Amino acid sequence: MTRHVHAIQCIGCPVGCGGEVVIEAGAVIEMRGFTCDKGQAYAADEVVAPKRMVTTTVRVDGGTLPLLPVVSERPVPKDAIFDCIRLLRSVVVQAPVEADAIIVADALGLGVNFRAACSIAEA
Ligand code: SF4
Repeated sequence: MTRHVHAIQCIGCPVGCGGEVVIEAGAVIEMRGFTCDKGQAYAADEVVAPKRMVTTTVRVDGGTLPLLPVVSERPVPKDAIFDCIRLLRSVVVQAPVEADAIIVADALGLGVNFRAACSIAEA
């Protein structure tokens, strides 16, 4: 079996631990340098199935601002990020919008909701 060693910088907190993840046959077999469970989970995900939070905007109809910032409730698989942005580009919400309102539920069947990052009043 071929082993691959990936150097990963954890971004889970300001400590910024650096470490290595060893992969064999697509599975994590060893980790070095991550000092907590959160960091180990991040590093394993980063190598096997990387994810990122997604922030973008959607159009607003009848509001005091033309665009509403939206954010994913949790990280989205990296290979689905541009499809999520394309989906959100087609969304138009009607003002008023409350902060934290769900703007798109279960985007692309990923189980991730996108929520309003702020309120926008009716014009
Ligand atoms: S491994 Fe833990 S302590 Fe180190 S940077 Fe990541 S979250 Fe912080």
